[in-house]
Amino acid sequence: MTFKDLEIVAPIQKALDSKGYTHPTPIQQQAIPLLLEGQDLLGCAQTGTGKTAAFAIPIIQKLFNSSNTKKRPKRIKALVVTPTRELAIQIEENFEEYSKHTHLKNTVIFGGVKQGTQVNRLKQGVDILIATPGRLLDLINQNIISLRYIEYFVLDEADQMLDMGFIHDIKRIIKLLPEKRQSLFFSATMPQNIKELSETILNNHQTITIQPKQATAEKVGQSVYFVKKSDKINLLIELLQKEPKATTIVFSRTKHGADKVVKKLMKANIKAAAIHGNKSQNARQRALGAFKKGELNVLIATDIAARGIDVSDLAFVINFDLPNIPETYVHRIGRTGRAKASGEAISFCDMEERAYLRDIEKLINQKVPVISDHSFVDDSKETNEKKKPSKQKQQFRRKGNVNKGKPKRSSNGPRG
Ligand code: AMP
Repeated sequence: MTFKDLEIVAPIQKALDSKGYTHPTPIQQQAIPLLLEGQDLLGCAQTGTGKTAAFAIPIIQKLFNSSNTKKRPKRIKALVVTPTRELAIQIEENFEEYSKHTHLKNTVIFGGVKQGTQVNRLKQGVDILIATPGRLLDLINQNIISLRYIEYFVLDEADQMLDMGFIHDIKRIIKLLPEKRQSLFFSATMPQNIKELSETILNNHQTITIQPKQATAEKVGQSVYFVKKSDKINLLIELLQKEPKATTIVFSRTKHGADKVVKKLMKANIKAAAIHGNKSQNARQRALGAFKKGELNVLIATDIAARGIDVSDLAFVINFDLPNIPETYVHRIGRTGRAKASGEAISFCDMEERAYLRDIEKLINQKVPVISDHSFVDDSKETNEKKKPSKQKQQFRRKGNVNKGKPKRSSNGPRG
């Protein structure tokens, strides 16, 4: 199937052509026709699947077909609410790209910066607004934004929204929306509380599920390095020095940990920057901008800061710490191997994280291949395990120790 089969209007088709997108991704194939028909949608999909275009294209097309260019002032007719500033900016960039040959106007609002520039853009009139919940409610309270004319509402990354404590904000926003509207609800995972929230938003909806495996596993090469916690930084330096030009996101579980990694890398003459919630919005944007332009090859990120970040041609995702929530692993490795590129996801696993690795392998339903010929191999056994290991676990350990023997340490390897 090509985009031509989806009967996309000429100005959007032109924008897709210039991006070189010919074939819709599975979520786009399924969602675009439904959304053009006016259906509500529950999408169980994560970033990396092409989900942004799956909702942006039909919204732009419907607004394009129904709008009157002469009508002034413009009113906000489509609202996309997303949890983080980075995602908001990225979604707006997508809308801007796909709508560049139409007269439609988009803008993005988020907290952490002064509101002046955002308010000026809003006052010039916009059709499509992408917002994070806090700033949106703030500007509604100041009577700068009205949701009275919303025809299309998208709640993006609903599970992360709840994780970040936005539930009350979301409920307040929903109350302000007109009854008659088309609603789209996206979440990477669908636990009970998310399903319940979706029911308060959607009306007679269709459901599309794109499995994480489809989204990631095929294009992402995965591997795990067993390494002592104290050796992780040295292993990281060694890997980064081997591939000095490769764009790499390194995931750290904590903000403090991310800062520590940056310091150590700088000492080893590896240029890197951290993005996390304690950094100012400007610092985050600067780091991300430099990374996207290729001026900076290594970004250290926490999960919340990095989720959904779309960097084309990302070569490596390195899990400096394994996440304790297995779904987070899938989100992280989805940063590489995006629609076009293929990539590598490398995980560092210390003794305490071996249980996390087992949970991840259960979720993705595959074993992550173990790299055992590196300079910092930790071949110690799990001693503090209470339960007798299952056959599968024993097999896994054997695999993990293929090149057993004394841990090799390269004589010229850096020592952080
Ligand atoms: P998303 O899941 O929306 O973050 O999209 C993931 C990446 O795939 C982004 O870089 C998109 O620009 C890109 N993309 C989306 N749709 C297509 C497509 N049909 N063909 C090629 N790349 C795409």
